[in-house]
Amino acid sequence: MTATEQRSPRVVVIGAGLSGIALGRELLRAGHDDFVILEKGHDVGGVWNWNHYPGLTCDVPSSLYQYSWDTNPGWSRTFATGPEIQRYHRDVAERHGIMPHVRLDSEVVAARHGDDGWTVTTADGSTYDADFIVAATGVLHHKNVPDFPGLDSFAGTVVHSVDWDDDIEVDGKRVAVVGTGSTGVQLVSAFQKRAAHVTNLLRTPQWVLWAPTEVAQPLPVRALLKYVPLLDQAVHQVSIGASSLYTDVVTRPSWRRRLVRRAAEAHLRTIRDPELRRRMTPDYEPLCKRQVVSGTFYRAIQQPNVSVVTDDIERFVPEGIVTADGTLHELDVVVLATGFKAHSYMRPMDLVGRDGLTIDEAWEKGTYAYRMSGLPGFPNLFMIMGPNAPVASLPQHWTAERSSEHIVAWLDRWARREFDTVEPTAEATERFNEQVKDALGPTVWNTGCNSWYLKDDGSVDLWPFDRATTKRWFARPDHGDYAFTTNGTNA
Ligand code: NAP
Repeated sequence: MTATEQRSPRVVVIGAGLSGIALGRELLRAGHDDFVILEKGHDVGGVWNWNHYPGLTCDVPSSLYQYSWDTNPGWSRTFATGPEIQRYHRDVAERHGIMPHVRLDSEVVAARHGDDGWTVTTADGSTYDADFIVAATGVLHHKNVPDFPGLDSFAGTVVHSVDWDDDIEVDGKRVAVVGTGSTGVQLVSAFQKRAAHVTNLLRTPQWVLWAPTEVAQPLPVRALLKYVPLLDQAVHQVSIGASSLYTDVVTRPSWRRRLVRRAAEAHLRTIRDPELRRRMTPDYEPLCKRQVVSGTFYRAIQQPNVSVVTDDIERFVPEGIVTADGTLHELDVVVLATGFKAHSYMRPMDLVGRDGLTIDEAWEKGTYAYRMSGLPGFPNLFMIMGPNAPVASLPQHWTAERSSEHIVAWLDRWARREFDTVEPTAEATERFNEQVKDALGPTVWNTGCNSWYLKDDGSVDLWPFDRATTKRWFARPDHGDYAFTTNGTNA
């Protein structure tokens, strides 16, 4: 085939978080430069752009939480802070020539497939035509604000963690944090150092694994990694390799999983007051919910200016919060660390595929995908971290990189005119979802706890497969699992 027979795909990527940036780099590397990345925020970075609450750090080691093709030797901590991670993603997008393709403040409200491909519309009415669209929209971006009675009557400041405003005064104030997930734990640790009093209202105690989340990366180590790039790469690769241990622990019961329980129990024993320890003891397996990792939380809740309240919230009143035991907790500031609605994916969006099929119709009985990347009825649509995203089992950047390579391999084939449209078949998708169901059986997420991993029907929305399987599926797709058209007819 000669070069003139090649064509250049027009691609719209939705979202400039870590997945969109990974794909942007892969598209440029492959020479597909006719693309835009539409981002609803004021900046790139996804969750690291949206979240900037006090104490925000990543509970995944920095050596793992980065792209393999642009590792950062200069992380200031073993577990980097939110602002540093955000800066890293922006720098990567700039360094790799991705920013000229990014359209900020461009929320996609509709994407429709027709005879001429996709038409994508943003909130300001702009439209973009595309041969392919890719939803790189992430998982945790629709906040969960519980409908607490009287919430509006509170006379102080109440804010969800994702809406944190740096102008909110906490120094010397009476502050409450509702929730004890990864966010709540980080907020309590940060506020304890500044507020007059911190009240942590928790509904379900969490297992907390200790890690050196506040330990600085020594300067000599940073210098060594900077001046010996091969070493920096090696550390990253070793971290990726070691992450397989974690995948194994969460997906299969073994002595290693029991060891994690011992570690969590040992950490729990650092709570000296037996009554507080009893109230902080979960009645489910560690790792069943999204595991909380902190080197500071248990220390923080044992300080005199912190109370842990395990009675349910009954209502908000102008002075604060009344709990089920009738106690009024007087407060100035309440931060709702109550998490996110994790199963929306690219919705709300008027996404319409083949024959007028809407995304809400397709997902009426719950979200699903073919290998987290494709959906029957939606030709030339790919997702990065779509349904069953491995947010609790595989490294995020690694997954985004493999997904991006997979998508770009399809674009290469399209450019060579091997097909006009591609989508997974309904049969293959059904088969895959049966496989998911079976593989989820022995996972720790399925051992009886309530978590944001669970869908409305109680099934787990996670990826129960290891890195080798994932890599193989993305690198060598089973072509029989896809339906193709060429010149408007089935190929
Ligand atoms: P989360 O893990 O979903 O935790 C929400 C908390 O709010 C839970 O303690 C939950 O209690 C509580 N809650 C929810 N509704 C409530 C209600 N009506 N009344 C009382 N309590 C209520 O949310 P998150 O802490 O924001 O974390 C979400 C995810 O973001 C994490 O799991 C993690 O994946 C990611 N994250 C990562 C980092 C990082 O360092 N990498 C940092 C922050 C967040 P129940 O347990 O009883 O439901």
